[in-house]
Amino acid sequence: MEQQVDIETVVLEGGSCVECSSPTITYVVKCQKCGYVETHRHTVSLTRGVTEVVTVQCEKCNHKQMVKIRYPR
Ligand SMILES: [Zn+2]
Repeated sequence: MEQQVDIETVVLEGGSCVECSSPTITYVVKCQKCGYVETHRHTVSLTRGVTEVVTVQCEKCNHKQMVKIRYPR
């Protein structure tokens, strides 16, 4: 049984969504310091009520930031 992710309810901080039409979303990281958008795509499976937190480092300026993906119940 496939459950569709409602794009309106997925909260993505520190990145932008590339593919958000299934329980697995694909996003790219955008540096909050220099604005560089990584070409590498990250894929994460979402579980309702669970916030995924990923620490990433900018390829360009080495700024470390957290990416949070929240999928509310
Ligand atoms: Zn940067």
